[in-house]
Amino acid sequence: MTQQSDIGESTVLGRRTLVADMPPLAVAFRWIAGLAGFGLLGILASLTPPQINSRHFLIFAVAIIVAEIFLLVRVGPGSYFSISPAFLFAYLLVGGGLAAAALDATARLIVFYVQKLRRRSTQTPLYALFNIGQNVLSILAGTLAVRIVLGTATFSTPIRTNQIESLLIFAATYVLASTLLTSILVLSRSGFSDLRTHLWPRSTRWLLVSVATTLPFAIVLTVLARSLGYSSSSILVFLVLAGIALILRLNVDLRKGNDDLKAINRIGNLINATLELSSLFKIIARESRKVLAWDGFFIAIGEKESPEVQIVFMSGGGDEITQRSIPKGAGLTGKAIATGELIHYEQDERTEQIVEDDTLRGPKRPRSIVVAPMKFGERVIGALSVQSFQPDVYGPSQLRLLQTMANQAAIAVRNAQLFESEQKARTERDEFLSLVTHEIKNPLTSIRGYAELVELSAREAELSSAVEAVGVIKSEARRILRLTEDLLDASKMTAGHFSVIMEETDFPAIVREIVHRYSGTAKQPISLDVQEPIPTIHADPVRLTQVVENLISNAVKYSQSPDTKIDVDLSVDLTRVRLSVRDEGIGIAPEKLPLVFDRFYRVEEDGRQVKGTGLGLFITREIMRMHGGTITVQSELGKGTVFTIELPTERRTVLAEIATPC
Ligand code: ADP
Repeated sequence: MTQQSDIGESTVLGRRTLVADMPPLAVAFRWIAGLAGFGLLGILASLTPPQINSRHFLIFAVAIIVAEIFLLVRVGPGSYFSISPAFLFAYLLVGGGLAAAALDATARLIVFYVQKLRRRSTQTPLYALFNIGQNVLSILAGTLAVRIVLGTATFSTPIRTNQIESLLIFAATYVLASTLLTSILVLSRSGFSDLRTHLWPRSTRWLLVSVATTLPFAIVLTVLARSLGYSSSSILVFLVLAGIALILRLNVDLRKGNDDLKAINRIGNLINATLELSSLFKIIARESRKVLAWDGFFIAIGEKESPEVQIVFMSGGGDEITQRSIPKGAGLTGKAIATGELIHYEQDERTEQIVEDDTLRGPKRPRSIVVAPMKFGERVIGALSVQSFQPDVYGPSQLRLLQTMANQAAIAVRNAQLFESEQKARTERDEFLSLVTHEIKNPLTSIRGYAELVELSAREAELSSAVEAVGVIKSEARRILRLTEDLLDASKMTAGHFSVIMEETDFPAIVREIVHRYSGTAKQPISLDVQEPIPTIHADPVRLTQVVENLISNAVKYSQSPDTKIDVDLSVDLTRVRLSVRDEGIGIAPEKLPLVFDRFYRVEEDGRQVKGTGLGLFITREIMRMHGGTITVQSELGKGTVFTIELPTERRTVLAEIATPC
C-alpha cells in the first residue's frame, strides 16, 4: 500500500488514479482548518456592527479564499466542504446574502479549477456549474426566508439584528433547498433509476449533519459575544467553544466510523456462515449495497499467477452470475489483482469511453469505479468492484470500507473454495471406494460358492487336509466379504446415500438366529434371555441383523478365554426394546470408550491381536440412528464390556437418507 499512503502523492496511471485513505497529517490539517473557520466566526460575531466596514469585509474575504486555496492544495478537495458551513455563516454576518452567495460561488469555482489542475476531479464544468448554481440558489432561498420572516434587508446588507433567528431561518431554508435541488439534480442525471439510493444523497446528508452540529455553536458564540459585551477576550471563549464544536463533529465522524464497523461486522458474520460460493457472492453484493451506493457490482476470482481472471459474479440491479474471463493484468480488475492495490478510477465524460471488459456495459458508462483486491494474507485471490454512474461517489471512507469488505470476502471465498474442493475430493473417493468394493464382492461370492462345492467333494472323499484348507479359504473369503461390505456401507453413510427399508420386524427371531449361529462356533457359552412378549418393531431386518451380529461377534472376538461367558438380554418397557450384549473379555479403557464408535477407530493395545477394521461400531451406530434408536457402552478394562441398544417400539418417521458427519 506504499504508493497509496499519501493522497497528495497518489500514482496517476494515465487517467487512472490509485487513491487510498487520507494520511493523518491531512486529517489534522482538516481539523485545524475547521478550527480556524470557527475562530473566524467567533471574531466576526464579537464585533459590533458599526465596527465592520468594507475594509474588514475585504480582508476577511481574501483571508477566507486564501485559506481555502491553501487547504485545497495541502489537504485535498474535501477540506473546503468540511468547513464551508462556518464560512457561510461568516459571510452572512459580514456581507449579507448576495455577498455570501458570490463568495461561496467563487470559492467553489476555485476549488473546481484547482482540482482540475491537480487532476483530482473528473467533474465536467457543466456539473460544477450545476453544483455552484444549486448552492447559490440555496443561499438566496435562505436569505429570502430571513428577509420575508424578519423583514431585514439581508440580500445586500449583513445580518445585524436578530442574529440567532436569522441564522436559524437561514440554515433551515438553506438545507431544505439544497436537499431538494441536489436530489433533483442527481435524479435527473441517473434518469430516476434508483430512487432509494439517490433520493437522500450522501452530500446532502453530510451537509445536514454539518449544519446541525455547527449551528448550535454559532448561536452560542453570538449569545456569548453579546453577554460578554463584545470584548476581545470573548474571542478566546469562542475558540474554546469552537474546539468543542469540532470535537462534536469528530464524534459524528467517529459514530459514522462506528456504523461502518457494525456493517463490516454484520457482513463478516453473514458471509462466514455460508460455504456455498454462489450464495456467498449474492450475500456480499446485497450487503455491500446497504453501505455503498453502486449501479454495478463485480466479483472476480483469479490469483496473481493465473493467466486469466474470471468474473464470476456481476450484478447491475438483479443478481446474475456471469462467467466471463479477462486476460491477466487487463482491465481495472486484472490490474488490481496483479498489483494487489486498490484502484479508484474516475471517468471523464468528455474523454473517450473506456473499453474495459470489466465495467458496466450498455449505453451508459460508469463514472466512478473502485476495484479492491481480495487479499488473503499476502495472497490476492480476486477482486471486488463497485461502479456508479455518478462522478465522485466514493470518498476515502468508502474506499476503506470496500477494501475491508474485500478482505473479509477473501477469507469467506477461500473457505468456500476449500470446502468445495474437499467435498469434490470426498465424493470422488467415496465413488471410487464403492466401485472397487462392488468389483471385489462379485468374485468373492463365487469363490465362496465354489469353496463350498469343493468342501462337499473333499468330505465325501474323506480328504481331511483338503476339508481343512477349504475351511480356511471359506473363512478368509467371508472375512474379506464382510470387510468389503463394511467399507461399502461406511462410504455410503458418509456420502449420505445409505438408506434403510423399514417393515414390521420380529426382533427376537433375529437375535435368536444369530445367538444360535454363534453358539456353534464360539469358544465360550452364549446365553440368551428374552423377556417375552416382545412386540414387533418397525425396522430394517437386514440392518438389524448386521447390528446384532456386530455386537455378538465383537463380544466373541474380544473375550479370548474360554472360561468367560456372554449374556444376551432382550427386554422391553413402554416405549423401547432393549438388547444388551455382555461379555467378560478384555474390556476397554475409559478414555477410549467415547472413541469406539468413530470411523476406523480401533483400540490398539498389547495383547490385542484380533483382526478388524474399526468400522463395525461406526456402522452399528449409524444404523441405530436411522432407526431412531441409541447405542451405549459400559466397560471395565480386564473385566468385560456391555453394549446396549434401544429401539423405539412405536412406528416413527425415520431418517431415510442422512449425510453422516465424519
Ligand atoms: P473392529 O472390531 O473391526 O476393530 P469395531 O468398530 O467393531 O471394529 O470396534 C471398534 C473397537 O472397539 C475395536 O477395535 C475394539 O478395540 C473395541 N471393541 C469393540 N467391541 C469390544 C468388546 N466387546 N470388548 C472389547 N473391546 C471392544
